[in-house]
Amino acid sequence: MDKKFWGDDKCNGCEICLKVCPAGNIEMKNEKPSWLHRCEQCLACIQWCPQEAIQYGKKTIKYQRYHHPEISLKNMLEQANAS
Ligand code: SF4
Ligand code: SF4
Repeated sequence: MDKKFWGDDKCNGCEICLKVCPAGNIEMKNEKPSWLHRCEQCLACIQWCPQEAIQYGKKTIKYQRYHHPEISLKNMLEQANAS
């Protein structure tokens, strides 16, 4: 399910994608995200990357990112750590 994810050149290696993933499905390889094939398709990594550097195939290159305005990154990190 996660074979189409990739990190583009905007990635700065901040590791937020790794930290918000509730499934522990992302690791860093050569300072870029790599997906480990146990994805739950929650899309948190795509939506919360501050650089908008995560893509799914080619379509997401032109899509805006969205997350609920009342949910903070801190909320997401706490939730991911609790799961
Ligand atoms: S959150 Fe975005 S910028 Fe940060 S490591 Fe992941 S892909 Fe790169
Ligand atoms: S979509 Fe969700 S479960 Fe899949 S890698 Fe991204 S954050 Fe993790």
